[in-house]
Amino acid sequence: MAYKEIFLKAYEAMSATIIDGNCGELCKGHCCRSKMENGEVLGIYFLPFEYEMMQVGENLIDADTVEIHKNDEYEMPEGIEQLVYGFCRDVTQCNRELRPVQCRTYPFEPHLEDGKLQLVIEKEQVHKCPLLSQRDCWNPEFEKGILAGWEILLQIPEIRIVVESESEERRNRYGK
Ligand code: SF4
Ligand code: SF4
Repeated sequence: MAYKEIFLKAYEAMSATIIDGNCGELCKGHCCRSKMENGEVLGIYFLPFEYEMMQVGENLIDADTVEIHKNDEYEMPEGIEQLVYGFCRDVTQCNRELRPVQCRTYPFEPHLEDGKLQLVIEKEQVHKCPLLSQRDCWNPEFEKGILAGWEILLQIPEIRIVVESESEERRNRYGK
């Protein structure tokens, strides 16, 4: 399957939201805030090929501020040469149809154990999502969609490398 088709299918599978409506209203858009408390502006890392396949020519990300992070300057898994890092043009007017995988999957992360995909929620969160303690409110379709989306994305070898590497780091961190 062509990579564009893979991303289109994954975005579609991952389109159910964690709760009905805009959960950002619960937390004043914590996930999308453009500045941290220390004033640092936050960007988004895209999956390998995601920016090129899904965002070029669209208006979600400010193309003038896109950074290409190369493996000779940034730490990356072996086999990954570069990753694209971009900044949202306007977090108050997100085109949600285009939001990247990182925004769709939160708070789940993909984890591979003996080649089998699982979803995990990191114990150490950069920020506290109010929904983490309200799991009974979650849309049941959300978890199913995120799992299906990652299964589709893992067809791209470079995405599998990234997920394998993050899973290995997680195992080392938690001694599993
Ligand atoms: S922190 Fe939680 S509630 Fe807030 S926008 Fe992110 S996922 Fe939604
Ligand atoms: S793409 Fe949308 S949901 Fe994701 S950080 Fe940007 S504004 Fe927020």
